[in-house]
Amino acid sequence: MKHLVLCVLLGSFGAAANAAAPLALTHATVIDGSGAAAMADRTVVIRGERIESVFASGSRPLPQDARVEDLRGRYLIPGLIDAHVHLTGAESGMAGYRPLLQALLRGGVTSVRDMAGDDRLLGYLALRANTDAFASPDIVYAALMSGPSFFAEDPRAQAASVGMPLGLAPWMQAISGTTDIALAVAAARGTGATGVKLYANLPAALLRQVAAEAHRQGLRVWTHATVFPARPSDAVAAGADTISHSPYLVWEAASPVPADYRVRAHGDFRHVAPDAAPIIALLKAMKARGTILDATLVVFRREAQHHPNQVGAGIMPWGYAVTRLAHREGVLIDAGSDSAGLPSDATGPELRALPLVHEEMALLVKHCGFSPIAAIEAATRIGAMAIGHGGDRGTITAGKLADLVVLTADPSRNIGNTRRIAFVIKHGRIYGVRDR
Ligand SMILES: [Zn+2]
Repeated sequence: MKHLVLCVLLGSFGAAANAAAPLALTHATVIDGSGAAAMADRTVVIRGERIESVFASGSRPLPQDARVEDLRGRYLIPGLIDAHVHLTGAESGMAGYRPLLQALLRGGVTSVRDMAGDDRLLGYLALRANTDAFASPDIVYAALMSGPSFFAEDPRAQAASVGMPLGLAPWMQAISGTTDIALAVAAARGTGATGVKLYANLPAALLRQVAAEAHRQGLRVWTHATVFPARPSDAVAAGADTISHSPYLVWEAASPVPADYRVRAHGDFRHVAPDAAPIIALLKAMKARGTILDATLVVFRREAQHHPNQVGAGIMPWGYAVTRLAHREGVLIDAGSDSAGLPSDATGPELRALPLVHEEMALLVKHCGFSPIAAIEAATRIGAMAIGHGGDRGTITAGKLADLVVLTADPSRNIGNTRRIAFVIKHGRIYGVRDR
C-alpha cells in the first residue's frame, strides 16, 4: 500500500500526478453505471485523469510501468453525483467549506450541481475543486432567474446576493416582460454558471423565451416544478433539461395554479391521484422530451419527519408513488439531496456522516421500484447528464474521467453497500487511502 500513500502525498502537485505511471485496478467487480449488471473480474487502467481501458482481467497485458492495485473482492462504481446541492450558506466562514467538500469526496461524491446560491463563492470554490487544488467533488452551478416579486419575498435570494441590489445580481436576476433576455442570459453565463435555474413567478411564455435563449448561448435549463404561474408541463414544453422535486409535480393537476410559489410544498396530495390523467400525460411528455426528473426525495422525507407543518399531508407517499410511476414510464431520474450534501444539525453539516446521496439512492430502491443497479445509474450516468457532463463522466468507460468509488461489499445486492467505501478516485487521483 506504500506506493498509494505516496501518491496521495504527491497528489498536491497536479502536473506530477498526471505524468505519473498509469494505475491498473485489477480483478474488480465492476458496476459501470450504465444500468448493466455487475461484471466480475475486470481491470480498469487509468492514465492521467482519464480511464484508458476496461477489460476482462488477464485478457490484455497491463502497461509495463503500471502501478497495480489488486481489487479482488472489491466493487467498483462510478463516482457519485449529487445533482442538487446548495453549498453557499452551509458554512459561516470560508474555512468551513474545505472540510465540507472533503467529507463529500471521501463519502464517494465526485461531482455536485449547485442549484442556486452565491455564485461569487461558488465560482471560487469551483475553480479550486475542478482543478484539484483541494480535495472536493467537481462543482457545477446555476444562475437563478425568477419573476421580480420573488426577490422581495425570499430571504434566501437576498442572502445569496448580499451587497447587490435585489434582482440585479447576475446570479439572482429578476426577469419580467421588459427584460432584455439575451443580455440577462449573457450576464448569467458570465458568472461561470453552466445552467440557469428558473425558480418562481414566471409565466409560461417568458419561461419559453428564457429557455430558448439559454440553450442558444450554450447553457442548460434547470427548472423548479413550481415556476408558477407556469406549470410543470410548461417547463417541459419549454425544453427544460431537468425539473426538480417529484412531489411538486402534483401542481400539474391543480386548477388553477396558485399565484404564490410559497405554497409549493402544500399540494393537494390527498385528492390528486399520482396516476391522474394530467400527471401521466406530464410523465409521458418528460419521457418523450428527455426531461430528467430531479426527484430529491430525501429532503422532503427529512422535512416531513422534522417539520410536518411545513409540507402538505401525504407528501411522502405521493412523492414516492409519482417517482415510481415516472421510473416505470421510462423518465430519467437523477439523485439529488437538495442540501449541502450531508445531514446537518443546528451547528451545520455533520462532517462525520456519509453524504445524503446514499440515502436518496436507498429511497429510490425502497419506495420507488428501482433495482440497486438502477439507483446507482441514477446517481452516476443520469446525474452526469443532469449536470451537463454526460459525455465526460457518469460511467466506467474508456475516455471518461477516472472518477470512481471502490467498495468493500456488493451494492448490486444491497444498495446500502454504497456506503462501504474503501477509497475514492477523482480525476485519476486516489483519496481516502489512509482511512482503510
Ligand atoms: Zn434546491
